[in-house]
Amino acid sequence: MKFTELGLAEPILRAVAEQGYDTPTPIQAQAIPQVLAGGDLLAAAQTGTGKTAGFTLPILQRLIGTPNQKHPRVLVLTPTRELAAQVGESVHNYGKYLKLKSMVMFGGVNINPQTDKLRRGVDILVATPGRLMDHHGQGNIDLSHVEILVLDEADRMLDMGFIHDIKRIFKLLPKQRQNLLFSATFSDEIRTLAQGLLHEPKTIEVARRNSTVEVIEQTIYTVDRERKRELLTHLIKAQNWFQVLVFTRTKHGANRLAEQLDKDGISAMAIHGNKSQGARTRALNEFKDGKLQVLVATDIAARGIDIDQLPYVVNYELPQVAEDYVHRIGRTGRAGATGLAVSLVCVDEFKLLKDIERLTHREFTRYAVKGFEPDLSVKPEPIQKPRTGVRSSPANRGGARTSSAKPVSPQNRINRPQGPTAHGAKKPASGHKPSMHRTGGRGQ
Ligand code: AMP
Repeated sequence: MKFTELGLAEPILRAVAEQGYDTPTPIQAQAIPQVLAGGDLLAAAQTGTGKTAGFTLPILQRLIGTPNQKHPRVLVLTPTRELAAQVGESVHNYGKYLKLKSMVMFGGVNINPQTDKLRRGVDILVATPGRLMDHHGQGNIDLSHVEILVLDEADRMLDMGFIHDIKRIFKLLPKQRQNLLFSATFSDEIRTLAQGLLHEPKTIEVARRNSTVEVIEQTIYTVDRERKRELLTHLIKAQNWFQVLVFTRTKHGANRLAEQLDKDGISAMAIHGNKSQGARTRALNEFKDGKLQVLVATDIAARGIDIDQLPYVVNYELPQVAEDYVHRIGRTGRAGATGLAVSLVCVDEFKLLKDIERLTHREFTRYAVKGFEPDLSVKPEPIQKPRTGVRSSPANRGGARTSSAKPVSPQNRINRPQGPTAHGAKKPASGHKPSMHRTGGRGQ
């Protein structure tokens, strides 16, 4: 089958051809006719299957005759800002020969330009739920004209705790509308959501393009605040980690850590907003080429850079905003590769860790590396204020669902060291973890 056989208008076909595609993927071949026909759709499809064009192309086709309405007629909800940006780009690319107006909105950035854009009229709105609700709260948006609702990566949306926002958004939409639900997995929660949302949906299921399971192994090491750098150096050297993306909370912290790692014999550079674009690009290229072992980044700096599928992400400091944890670890373990996300957590950060556990619906086992056991009787010190007052919207490419951590009741108490020493570089079964033991939990 060719795209030309699907009943799409010439300006859309031209844009598709310009992207270099002439044959629809299986999900596109099935979804496009269904969406054009106006029915609801339940699609089991993940990223990599071509699902975005699967809903974008027929949606563009359906709006073609009546562009430039004041209020959005299509609402695409995504769990993460990266996905929102990606979908927005697809809408833009495939719709480039049409007169439709589209916009992307997500949190973590200034709300005012989004408000201005909304005022100028939008046909297709791609949004993360949190920021959409912020706009609604400010009276910036009227969703009562939405004809088509798309929930993209619905499973991730639920994983990330968006169910309440989503339900509130449903209430703002007209009852009569077309609903398209895309989800990589079908849990009971998703089925319940689908049952309440969809009317006689056509169900489409396509096989994964890559059959390897994406796994992000998440490990929490408790450590004294003053010994984090030492522990990081130890882990990198003992485990022979390469291409490690390390997150710090501040630019100053990123600089200092990169310098210290360099002194420890680990090639490292920092990227953050105060670095020139040239310096950032240079660091990034060296990192991608494998010349640079460690890249130290702040959340904001990391957001704008095109690096993913990394083997190692380290949270040298936990983020202030729990959603950023999901953003950060989403940099690893993509596209079938196994990734390791390690967080070095000191007593000051236990509350932040709890916030992350609440968001990701899991409790992490706290481990300590032998020789780096923290003194947990130390009084926590306050962490400096969040970087902006703007709510951050989550972003994730699938990290939060997969974890090696077992649920425990985290009491944050230390236990006697057990097991082989980390210095023996004896790797555990996972091949990732150095010698370690729980610092809180059952049966210890
Ligand atoms: P998605 O699953 O929507 O994230 O798309 C995955 C990738 O497949 C993107 O890079 C698309 O640009 C690409 N893609 C979408 N449709 C096609 C197609 N018909 N043929 C080849 N590649 C495509």
